[in-house]
Amino acid sequence: MHRRDFIKKIILFSLSFVILKTKIMANTLFKPFNLVDGVFVNNYVSHKSSFKDFWKWRRESSKPEPIAFPVVENDPEYLKSNKSENTITWIGHSTFLLQIDGINILTDPHFTKRASPLSFMGPSRTTPPGLKIDELPFIDFVLISHNHYDHLDSKTIQLLLKKQNVNQPTFFVPLKLRDILSKLGARNVMEHEWWQMTQFKNLEIHSVPVQHWSKRTFNDTNKTLWCGWVVKANNFKYFFVGDTGYSKDFKDIQKKFGYFDLSTIPIGAYAPRWFMKDSHCNVEEAIQIHKDVKSKKSIAMHWGTFQLTDEPMDEPIKLLQELTKQLKISKDEFSYMTHGQTKKI
Ligand code: ZN
Ligand code: ZN
Repeated sequence: MHRRDFIKKIILFSLSFVILKTKIMANTLFKPFNLVDGVFVNNYVSHKSSFKDFWKWRRESSKPEPIAFPVVENDPEYLKSNKSENTITWIGHSTFLLQIDGINILTDPHFTKRASPLSFMGPSRTTPPGLKIDELPFIDFVLISHNHYDHLDSKTIQLLLKKQNVNQPTFFVPLKLRDILSKLGARNVMEHEWWQMTQFKNLEIHSVPVQHWSKRTFNDTNKTLWCGWVVKANNFKYFFVGDTGYSKDFKDIQKKFGYFDLSTIPIGAYAPRWFMKDSHCNVEEAIQIHKDVKSKKSIAMHWGTFQLTDEPMDEPIKLLQELTKQLKISKDEFSYMTHGQTKKI
């Protein structure tokens, strides 16, 4: 080997060593403020439900009847051509298509049959998606709130990436979810810590703290983060709450953002309260979240699609109508949608 080649090799080797060392240091130096002993924690409650509690719930569960809700016909051609009007379409559960300033956004996309790691068992869909994946317009970005199977569906993400394989959407995810998205084939992944912001064209995408937890396998409880998302346009502020228990986080969020033009708030999966309260708000608390964050309009989500918990599937929506009436909140201020329905916002 020539002397020059030898020196070149030594320099390249030293350089790659320095780069590796810097990478390792950067990883050890970055410690999220909400990561304690390797698991993420909430701001205002420590989640301590045990496996024993989980089995107690499953044993005692009343297992309510699955109910299929109506689906309205959608107009995918309008959604594909629309650039000028802001719209929201409810696909089902926590999956919405939002069109804000000509940008197409999907929240927690789930289009398949089950909210489960297994294709043959686990909570199954009672109402079909209000839009098919093939009917979607070009998606600019996807917001994912956490890794539970009713919010992060591997099959859906693969189908979405297959449809948009050249021009992939950007996936905004909470900390430590990059790996799973990359394994599914996503090339554009933005991981966020709570309160972090990324500019996307004219929009600001902020992640915010909500009170929940995460789990996908036997030994990964709370090892990945959960969050809500705020999308801020010039004249429009949208809050996608994700899954959450009621907490003081919402007053903190209001302090930072002032108010919202639109929020989508979960109203289902609250029973039994002894087990669900810390991580899922009930309808009364969902209305309180709407008030706490000063949302001009809110739309109910996380109901009527999968049969997940002990309340009858039509109870959240009945309670929402009763409670908003009692509190003199108009039907338009805190509303609910039919699967497939598109609304101008
Ligand atoms: Zn969840
Ligand atoms: Zn959920």
